[in-house]
Amino acid sequence: IERTFSILKPDATRRNITGKVNALIEGAGLRIVAQKRVHLTRGQAETFYAVHKERPFFGELVEQMSAAPVVVQVLEGENAIARYREVMGATNPANAAPGTIRKEFALNVGENTVHGSDASETASVEIAQFFSGNEIV
Ligand code: ATP
Ligand code: MG
Repeated sequence: IERTFSILKPDATRRNITGKVNALIEGAGLRIVAQKRVHLTRGQAETFYAVHKERPFFGELVEQMSAAPVVVQVLEGENAIARYREVMGATNPANAAPGTIRKEFALNVGENTVHGSDASETASVEIAQFFSGNEIV
């Protein structure tokens, strides 16, 4: 059993579709073992996406991620990291497969509805950024 970190991004909370996204997550066999709604500061968004700080879209990404509340989650399941990446679909919704979260809901490559960790090391770091052990049940 593996854990991954997930964010339902501002475009999801704005459109009030977090329940619909969670239905796809649970439908894929992933269990939401921690969840809370937070409004990221610019600093928190910068830290979270620091790996992308040299990319041309970094400013816009930080702006979007701190513009409205998000829902941060820990998901648990068999191969949760890869499984969630599969369910999320391609970063650019134009390339996302049918039935994936991004195909169903993403607006564009920036407002693409969800984040999911890309490896077990990043999952641990990202989970620890938002949750303490006793909040994950
Ligand atoms: P995430 O890390 O959010 O789960 P990802 O791993 O599929 O998404 P990354 O390459 O890590 O994609 O990019 C992080 C985020 O930066 C993307 O989810 C997207 O919101 C934004 N992003 C990536 N590429 C672009 C781009 N070309 N233009 C605008 N925004 C982008
Ligand atoms: Mg990524």
